[in-house]
Amino acid sequence: MKNTNEMEIRFDSRSANEGFARVAVASFMTQLNPTVEEVADVKTAVSEAVTNAIIHGYESEIRKVCIRCRIEENTFLVEVCDKGKGIENIEEAMQPMYTTKPEQDRSGMGFAFMEAFMDSVEVESEPGKGTCVRMRKTVGKGREIWTTQSL
Ligand code: ATP
Ligand code: MG
Repeated sequence: MKNTNEMEIRFDSRSANEGFARVAVASFMTQLNPTVEEVADVKTAVSEAVTNAIIHGYESEIRKVCIRCRIEENTFLVEVCDKGKGIENIEEAMQPMYTTKPEQDRSGMGFAFMEAFMDSVEVESEPGKGTCVRMRKTVGKGREIWTTQSL
């Protein structure tokens, strides 16, 4: 049977909670013995998804954002969900530099960062129902090879 562990947090969609969410996820992830860079990558990706839930999903309304994390062997899976306005065209929304809020100095790079820092990013969304961003990253890849070579 696979070695697994899960956690779930739900918090108000206030920007003050962005830092909390990032640190909570990073802290859960430490049991995988990640590198500093791997933790930084996951924190950045989670921040982007949480910011999107707050500013695009709920547009300043205070509702709940849910994060679920799961560890499967050396793979870290994280899901950031809101029950906000949803995305009409997911493919278009995920294009680098696509933003629906240019007036708020948004650069449209959030999804591009998530894709750059994680191994995979999947988005499920329905207008009026909400959005779920599922990301996955294998942690500790290559370190075993390095150890073998250095012996
Ligand atoms: P940046 O992240 O660079 O500040 P951005 O948030 O506009 O800018 P992305 O994070 O790439 O860029 O998101 C692209 C677009 O996808 C957003 O402008 C928004 O229209 C839509 N979007 C993203 N996440 C959500 C969400 N949770 N709910 C509704 N719409 C979303
Ligand atoms: Mg964004």
